[in-house]
Amino acid sequence: MRIIIFGPPGAGKGTQANLISEEYDIPHLSTGEIFRSAIKNETSLGKEVKAILDAGDLVPDEKVVGLVEEELKDDKYSDGYILDGFPRTVPQAEAYDAILDKKGKTLDAFLQLVVPEEELIDRILSRGEGRSDDSPEKIKNRLAVYREETAPVLNHYKKQDAVETIDGVGSIEEIFEIIKETLNSK
Ligand code: ADP
Repeated sequence: MRIIIFGPPGAGKGTQANLISEEYDIPHLSTGEIFRSAIKNETSLGKEVKAILDAGDLVPDEKVVGLVEEELKDDKYSDGYILDGFPRTVPQAEAYDAILDKKGKTLDAFLQLVVPEEELIDRILSRGEGRSDDSPEKIKNRLAVYREETAPVLNHYKKQDAVETIDGVGSIEEIFEIIKETLNSK
């Protein structure tokens, strides 16, 4: 199964993607995690993107698309995967369509986690992961970037009739139950 989990920062994408990955035995590909680990390990990619992540801005599309395309060549993704944090702009979504096309594959589900904006800031501040982009100022920027650049991705997938809307308010288990029902009915 090929799944995209989508939603604003703080919506719980990473948490639910981990649960989905275990339940359906598919790898979890998080672009944010790739970048954070590159920064931690001080690789050349890490050095390139550190200031961008710190500011809560987006890594350029060509860079992200190239990285995802390369990563997806690994055999471990051949039976499916869950994408978290990608595609994050309309050009990324178009590039991902082309990647799928080239392989003759299709997307099985686009899960949109819906959480009211007031709750997002509280959640990010209270999860206390110590991420350098988790200060109130930077969260505001990430939400603005989400509204301007990422929210339009939703329309891209609505046009493909692929969007499953999931209420992202509730306990982790409750939300995961709804996601499983949605995926199992596919
Ligand atoms: P969140 O959704 O909570 O902000 P992520 O881990 O998905 O967290 O992303 C963290 C940061 O990594 C983003 O703010 C951005 O700088 C960078 N990033 C992750 N994925 C992408 C992407 N697809 N395109 C551009 N930048 C990205």
